[in-house]
Amino acid sequence: MVRKETHTIKHLIQLQDLIVARAQQQASMATARLQQLDKNIATLAGELPVELKTHFNRLLQKNIEAIVPITGENCSGCGYALTKTMVNSVHAGNELNRCPNCTRILYSPDVPLTRNTPRRRWGDPVKRGIDRFSSPELMIPSLKGTTKEEILLEMCNNLREQGYIENCDDLHNAALRREAIVSTAVEHGIAFPHVRGVEGGGLTLTLGISKKGVKFGADGNKLSKIFFYMVIPTAASAFYLKLLSGLTQSFSTKEAREALMTAKTQEELWKILTKATKKTIA
Ligand SMILES: [Zn+2]
Repeated sequence: MVRKETHTIKHLIQLQDLIVARAQQQASMATARLQQLDKNIATLAGELPVELKTHFNRLLQKNIEAIVPITGENCSGCGYALTKTMVNSVHAGNELNRCPNCTRILYSPDVPLTRNTPRRRWGDPVKRGIDRFSSPELMIPSLKGTTKEEILLEMCNNLREQGYIENCDDLHNAALRREAIVSTAVEHGIAFPHVRGVEGGGLTLTLGISKKGVKFGADGNKLSKIFFYMVIPTAASAFYLKLLSGLTQSFSTKEAREALMTAKTQEELWKILTKATKKTIA
């Protein structure tokens, strides 16, 4: 019995990862691998007990995340404070627990991915557009890495150096695991690497440019040069998809992409990003 529910939870997480990956591919206009993803989703969903599948599908209609990790003693989907008994039960994994508020299925993350909660002071101006998720110090106009691993680590390290996260080990591994599901590299040398389910703070975006380009996606002949790396709390998943499609739209023209490639300093890159996303990101 014990083994069975742990297995079910793993199964659901795997299915959830595929469903979100599919939505990400769609939001970034990458349609080449949708059929394969659909096939894998159908296979995994088909293995679920009928009742659970129905509940899961019903949840998915309301939100992109139907199974969510708990963060401390809260449901990371809606923030509801759970009872001690339920938290213990979620950690034990002997049965499927549902959030009493949003009815999402809850699980205990193996390694909680945390980021530092940003300090917000009274009187700080309200931020708008891309300013809400990023800042000049998160711009890397010239990435040094020559492989996928190096690029991802370099961007993660920048987040750490700027005080957004404590350490890179778990986050970096999570970003690599995500790339293994289906590459986040899309057309025109753009890639959207990311880590979902991160605790603490809001969605954070760091932008890195590789002037030479690196082999990032499944198609070894194409080079990726523009990397939008994002750290996403569970509650921001739906919004993340909007941001993704806004960025895709902003950099759908050659001129917009070339502008990014020519930036020499962090300030320049920041200015170009801000200007290009003015209309697409609210
Ligand atoms: Zn909830």
